[in-house]
Amino acid sequence: MAEKNGCFNGLKCRECGKKFPAEVLYVCDDCWGPLEVDYDYDKIAARLTKETILSRKPNMWRYKELLPIEGDVTVGQHVGYTPLVKSDRLGKALGVKTVYVKNDTVNYPTLSFKDRVVSVALSRAKEFGFDTVGCASTGNLANSVAANAAAAGLRAFVVIPSNLELGKIIGSLIYGINVVGVEGTYDNVNRLCSEIAGHYNWGMVNVNLRPYYAEGSKTMGHEIAEQLDWQLPDHVVCPMAGGSLICKIEKAFNEFIKLGFVDKHDFHIHGGQAEGCAPIVEMVKENRDWVKPIREPKTIVKSLAIGDPADGPFARQTMIGTGGWGENPTDEETVWGIRTLAETTGIFAETAGGVTVAAAKRLIDAGRIKADESVVLCITGNGLKTKEAVEGEFDAIDSIQPKLAAFDELLKKIEGKEPATVS
Ligand SMILES: *Cc1c(COP(=O)(O)O)cnc(C)c1O
Ligand SMILES: [Zn+2]
Repeated sequence: MAEKNGCFNGLKCRECGKKFPAEVLYVCDDCWGPLEVDYDYDKIAARLTKETILSRKPNMWRYKELLPIEGDVTVGQHVGYTPLVKSDRLGKALGVKTVYVKNDTVNYPTLSFKDRVVSVALSRAKEFGFDTVGCASTGNLANSVAANAAAAGLRAFVVIPSNLELGKIIGSLIYGINVVGVEGTYDNVNRLCSEIAGHYNWGMVNVNLRPYYAEGSKTMGHEIAEQLDWQLPDHVVCPMAGGSLICKIEKAFNEFIKLGFVDKHDFHIHGGQAEGCAPIVEMVKENRDWVKPIREPKTIVKSLAIGDPADGPFARQTMIGTGGWGENPTDEETVWGIRTLAETTGIFAETAGGVTVAAAKRLIDAGRIKADESVVLCITGNGLKTKEAVEGEFDAIDSIQPKLAAFDELLKKIEGKEPATVS
């Protein structure tokens, strides 16, 4: 194991606070609550300053002291520090003045925010000495575990529902690791992976390594605050699957407040899920603190289709506790969201991004986000992986002879149906 140099003491139960050593543990043996990393913030404050952060390379490991590994980063050294893009044109389409896109469609290396969690989980897996790793995934996590395990020379098994989009399946197969399709829903996949982790003693990143894995998501929040010139936004809209990312964005903002990197600010975190699988949003809308699982998700938004979300109650608490809300747009609104984001920012997001944009639109229309307040949209995955979601939106492209006359004829046709140019 690498030299112990981390800024965390161990793990602690998110429900009852019971402390555990920093080992391969993930549930409390007293209350069955999930475990999380227990940091030593005094030690972090002594080691990490804004100047230190600014002196480091532009990747998520510039916040290393706030991440749970003990030695050097061994997997995913280049992940993170994706662009935060301000867009007046998207603001106009949504009805707010100040909107930013946190663009994890270009995260390295597999084009989704999951590279953040995998980088931490696999670096930690190597510290624990696992030679085989894996995950239960709706697609993006599988892609990231596959790529990062391949680069690190780890044996990997990624387990996915067998009906995923082609881009997500090829996006795992290409790395030459083991891809296992399972009949049924993500929840079937997840249960199987819990059994696999216990039976074979493998490092399943979102099962027995989950406390470490989940911390990687915080860096999306850290980066947002740093890229806003060390300020917090008024609102964040975040997609939810298992409900982990949304909690970690709140945690990241609170860590930066605690460390004095940003001023205290009244921020509101909102969550989005697809109407056809919105167990967490329904908890918010029905004012219920327990998850009613969705047995059969029915939506094009496969990356968020987790019927029984592990962090549901915590995600609800983040939304309610920060004065945020949850929205569950239809698939039609989601497609509108994908197209609107692309047409106004040049960013092609996957279905989860469409949900986020469409959820933001609902929140703005309902007055939960006011026109003069700032909003950050967490856009978490790349549209080239879920082309199926929009391919029916377009007619076949015009195909012409390679002659100027043919182009001229086509141009007349196009100009005939073109709307007035928008600026
Ligand atoms: C995994 C995922 C999320 C959200 O994940 P949580 O389980 O809620 O942390 C959001 N967007 C995309 C594209 C994802 O793949
Ligand atoms: Zn407990």
